Amino acid sequence: MEKLSVEDFKRLLNHALLRIKERENEFSQLDAVIGDGDHGTAIVSAFSVATKSAEKGTEYKSMLNDMGFAIMLETSGSTSTLLGAFFLGMSDTSQGVELDADGVKAMFAGGLANVQKQTQAKPGDKTMMDALVPAVDAMQSCSSINIKDILRIGADAALKGAKSTVDMKANFGRARNYGERSIGYADSGATSWSCMFASFAEAL
Ligand SMILES: [Mg+2]
Repeated sequence: MEKLSVEDFKRLLNHALLRIKERENEFSQLDAVIGDGDHGTAIVSAFSVATKSAEKGTEYKSMLNDMGFAIMLETSGSTSTLLGAFFLGMSDTSQGVELDADGVKAMFAGGLANVQKQTQAKPGDKTMMDALVPAVDAMQSCSSINIKDILRIGADAALKGAKSTVDMKANFGRARNYGERSIGYADSGATSWSCMFASFAEAL
């Protein structure tokens, strides 16, 4: 698959929403270990709003921009801020009605760059960045022009990153107060973002 059309992208979103909904309780339970236990609800709400907004999209830049703003306007909290920033950043580096391999890489790199403007969290802090950063980095270094390969490499790196958070001590935000008690459980955000990347790869 050498091109990703807007309609293909909507398939990725719809499949990710389905998978995220299936695992909503798991994400909330992980969040409850070191937080308020609302992550499942928050990610389902934000992703639902984005997917709904994308339905009327006909072109990448405006569709992704509308998705990001819809999340910002209709939902609140850190999950929304980060997911909204991700789609807005993807919009910055995307245009047209279909993307080739380089276009897909640029879209995800734009998403990461904008998330990095919203949070100081780095890989190793036990946050969603432990899934997002390795996923986007792996995509950038993929030499295949097959978009399925790029999404698969990103999904594998995201899963590995999310799994690596099990042994980490929370080092960011309020979760830091839980210290040692956070060890032994995966981070909820890293897990949900990894689910999103896995779903993108599965959908094609
Ligand atoms: Mg929470």
